Amino acid sequence: TSAAAVLPFDGEGRLADGTEVPLLANVGGAADAVSAAAAGAQGVGLFRTEFCFLDRAEAPTIEEQVAAYRGVLAAFPDRRVVVRTLDAGSDKPLPFANPEHEDNPALGVRGLRIARRSPALLDDQLRALALAAEHESASVEVMAPMVATVDEARDFADRARAAGLRRVGIMIETPAAALLARELFEIVDFVSLGTNDLAQYTLAADRLLSDLGDLNDPWQPAVLRLIGAVGDAGRAVGRSVGVCGEAGGDPALAPVLVGLGVTSLSMTPRALGRVGAALASVTAAQCREAAEAVLGAATADEARAAASAVLNR
Ligand code: PEP
Ligand code: MG
Repeated sequence: TSAAAVLPFDGEGRLADGTEVPLLANVGGAADAVSAAAAGAQGVGLFRTEFCFLDRAEAPTIEEQVAAYRGVLAAFPDRRVVVRTLDAGSDKPLPFANPEHEDNPALGVRGLRIARRSPALLDDQLRALALAAEHESASVEVMAPMVATVDEARDFADRARAAGLRRVGIMIETPAAALLARELFEIVDFVSLGTNDLAQYTLAADRLLSDLGDLNDPWQPAVLRLIGAVGDAGRAVGRSVGVCGEAGGDPALAPVLVGLGVTSLSMTPRALGRVGAALASVTAAQCREAAEAVLGAATADEARAAASAVLNR
């Protein structure tokens, strides 16, 4: 059964040669954070704040937000907690953030784009997060979803720093952002790859359509090459490159991601044990070799086979 298949995780992600790869959790609120901490997560790599407010008709007050954020931060004293600003819209519309009908919501005013119409919503959230951070020992980092341009990243970073937040990042989940990684690293402290949306937008395939599952696949070479470009940009400047999409919880893909330049992985807590075990069985050199192999693949199946040939020999 799936419960029996869950491997315990001892709380330290590292490769066979000792290279550290922190394993973090994706959470949607305080209850998730408590169970993620119990499962051994080393921190939070993605706090989906929109999950706290899905049932709201009106925007939450700053006080309500502070309480919601403190609940997550409190579960990870002294640990890294990456908080994502509201990713409302598309598959997660919030009435107070996405009031208008859109014919193509995945390509619409979602994520950071909401700040174009409602900058106060973003500024209030950043202020609430800075207040929450003052009360908790967790090391708070903030990142924006759905960034496509350098100007968007700069505007977000300026607002976040003005609110008093010190570690500022963006998600890379559009091909545009992946291609601009070098320039984006001049503006932000870290990036996190949202491989779910990165696959959707790279393959132009709605992630909610199960018929298109073969396209919404992080093993697609086009997606792997974009991840590799971001990893190269991160290595060049010595910055952290996380993955917080489903790909981060795939034990076969995790070593490949590390070889491509990814420095931490965030996932559903039940994947921690298996990903931890997969990483502990390979060296950094093997990861890089697997990454080189997948970058030469022409199809997703070829990429899987190439990685497995290197990592399972
Ligand atoms: C992603 O797109 O990969 C991601 C982590 O964000 P979400 O699934 O919440 O869109
Ligand atoms: Mg996303």
